[in-house]
Amino acid sequence: MSIKYVFKRTGGWLYLNTSLGRHPLRGAGVILMLHRVLNNDRAAELPHRNELCVGPDAFEHLLIWLQRHFECVPLMTLLLADPESVPNRPRVALTFDDGWRDNAMNAFPLLRQYQVPASIFLSTDFVGSRQHFWWESIGETLWGSHGQVARHSLIEHLQHAGRPLPVLLDDIDDERRSLALLHYLQSLKTLDARTLSDLTEACPHGAQPQALDWPQVRMLEDSGLVRFGPHGASHAILTGLDDQRLHEELTRSWTALENGCAQPLPVYCYPNGDNDVRVREQVAAHGFPFALGTQAGLYRHDGDPLNLPRFGVSQRNACHPELLAWRIRRGARS
Ligand SMILES: [Zn+2]
Repeated sequence: MSIKYVFKRTGGWLYLNTSLGRHPLRGAGVILMLHRVLNNDRAAELPHRNELCVGPDAFEHLLIWLQRHFECVPLMTLLLADPESVPNRPRVALTFDDGWRDNAMNAFPLLRQYQVPASIFLSTDFVGSRQHFWWESIGETLWGSHGQVARHSLIEHLQHAGRPLPVLLDDIDDERRSLALLHYLQSLKTLDARTLSDLTEACPHGAQPQALDWPQVRMLEDSGLVRFGPHGASHAILTGLDDQRLHEELTRSWTALENGCAQPLPVYCYPNGDNDVRVREQVAAHGFPFALGTQAGLYRHDGDPLNLPRFGVSQRNACHPELLAWRIRRGARS
């Protein structure tokens, strides 16, 4: 364990366990960003999954830690709070992006057990469909989760797309191979949507759909603990769309939520966090008072409500929430 790591963990602990440390959090809120909750912690630890996945043990550990140090509130309670009435304990709201099926299977039972509210932001075209998210399908096929035949077939498709695999992806060490896969997947983000969709089609479809379906959405909403908001329709990066397509994404995602939910959240969650002035103006014109980005920072009621900051939760910082406290502390200073 490095000195820097010990320093961060201790600093994070002191921050939340002393009133002096907690002072910069007064009146501010913390919005956490999660994606997937897998059914296996070891699977979530690998570098290519670490940022977007947590395992059930890590997630439970995080929930217990949050309840000890924060008041866990619904997102709208945090956003609409009167900044004058400062609660004794700092507030935190949990958000999940994309609408993964495992949010219902693995996250919800723990949210219910600990009575922690959460908001899930759906890429609505995926709900109830067998359409898969490209990074998951390509990533897991390359990892070999669907067998060697599927892996080699996809590698050929990637070569045709001008993206041959780096040699490191054949490394026998799992950690190094996973890290190489993470970098390779990040490099694919520059491919156009059509090519990514064709490559995803070239991957085998698992037995289960990846996304939630509408009955699951309603079941979670009926629990009173979970609410839903839009995260694009197709998960296209909004800043890359022309005005017409941007308007269509915003309209289609909201219409789907209005049809599928009792009380959709008036909060837009930008796919990938990407937004600019034009996107924010369109989101406001569509009637959204709030939107979530991915920049780290505290919610202080005085920032841009259409680019709200969030702290990302990874398997690593869910296992060691003092690291999260360290990041929150840095956010509190800025
Ligand atoms: Zn997303």
